[in-house]
Amino acid sequence: MALIVQKYGGTSVGSIEKIMAVAKKVIELSKKGDRLLVVLSAMAGQTDALINLSRQITEIPDPRELDVLMSTGEQVSISLFALAVKSLGYNCCSLLGFQASICTDQTYGKARIKQIYTDRIMEELEKNSIVTIAGFQGIDEGKNITTLGRGGSDTTAVALAAALKADVCEIYTDVEGVYSADPNLCANAKKLDKISYDEMLEFASLGAKVLDVRSVEFAKKFNVPIHVRSSFTENGGTMVVAESKEMEKILVSGVVSDKNEARITILKIPDKPGIAFAIFDPIFRANIVVDMIIQNTSADGITDLTFTVPKPDFQKTMGLVKDIAKKIGASDVIGDEDIAKVSIIGLGMRNHAGIAYKMFQTLAKENINISLISTSEIKISCIIKEKYTELAIRALHDSFGLGNEK
Ligand code: ADP
Ligand code: ASP
Ligand code: MG
Repeated sequence: MALIVQKYGGTSVGSIEKIMAVAKKVIELSKKGDRLLVVLSAMAGQTDALINLSRQITEIPDPRELDVLMSTGEQVSISLFALAVKSLGYNCCSLLGFQASICTDQTYGKARIKQIYTDRIMEELEKNSIVTIAGFQGIDEGKNITTLGRGGSDTTAVALAAALKADVCEIYTDVEGVYSADPNLCANAKKLDKISYDEMLEFASLGAKVLDVRSVEFAKKFNVPIHVRSSFTENGGTMVVAESKEMEKILVSGVVSDKNEARITILKIPDKPGIAFAIFDPIFRANIVVDMIIQNTSADGITDLTFTVPKPDFQKTMGLVKDIAKKIGASDVIGDEDIAKVSIIGLGMRNHAGIAYKMFQTLAKENINISLISTSEIKISCIIKEKYTELAIRALHDSFGLGNEK
């Protein structure tokens, strides 16, 4: 008897009809004798709607209360799902994060799962072959409700699969798997049968929201196989698994874009020891994640420094940086929110030269200016103007021959 963790995203449970359809699908599987743990997201659009309600009261909602509010979306979907299963004559029990003992740290809005005590879940699984758990939420040491960050239901599912040593974690969504590019951007994007944890980590952190990056971190750490597949078709999807030898043969597996960063440049900084620390210390203290950093060297003891931060943190960072710039004697600070990051990812890049060359050549041919570049062993990212994102993605996808025949 297998133990399967399944997660259904917001669009998969976006209406009563869809919840009924998921309930029927889960019941069919449970008839085969497997035990099923079903993690659900809030119905499509509900989390945004809850956030908007809070914004009608205040621009900056209290983080604790916002988590209490946001977590209710998933409470609605699991209760409706349990009712749907019961209405079809089968047993089902719904559990909220705290009832399932999903214990997190105290970082409201982006809490990390520290531990899951599985006793209650196991107890319910003994009694019911179907148990449904609210995604995206947990409880901290002080018994406060926490949420895991947008898209966090994927992480709930994979963490549960790890804690329960499930046979597989299936992520059901509105596309048939992980593709060589976002299929909503690139009509001829190709579904990947398999992808390694490391590549998937890059896909997720560089903007492919099909899996939440933390869910992939969990999967890699605990070796949980993830099957990303469609809620609406029976076709097999993409397996996210440990790397195997044959995977290295593929040079580039995909192209990804992210419009969620902004760029800040500090001009004419006196080039002396301690400057980078003076600039980044207050930013790190404000819990702002800095991504790319580039410092120009100069002959006359003056330097420029450019870096990127998430767009929601842009205004706050500009405020901090303007203060610092004055203190350290820099001449000016320029900000630009009108940017995007395009990246190519592939394990085969480790052993092959010329991939960066081809990326730059492709962007040059399209007349797209690159303002920042960063590389790792298995990815290359370029910052470009936001309006060229779709053009860049399609051009790179074509020039690396990633798509299905047109
Ligand atoms: P869910 O609500 O099921 O969690 P998400 O909207 O979070 O679904 O993630 C699925 C979406 O991810 C797809 O609709 C697709 O537009 C997007 N996506 C981005 N990049 C990729 C990719 N490389 N492969 C598949 N989907 C991708
Ligand atoms: N409902 C949450 C969100 O919209 C979590 C999730 O869907 O994974 O971000
Ligand atoms: Mg998602």
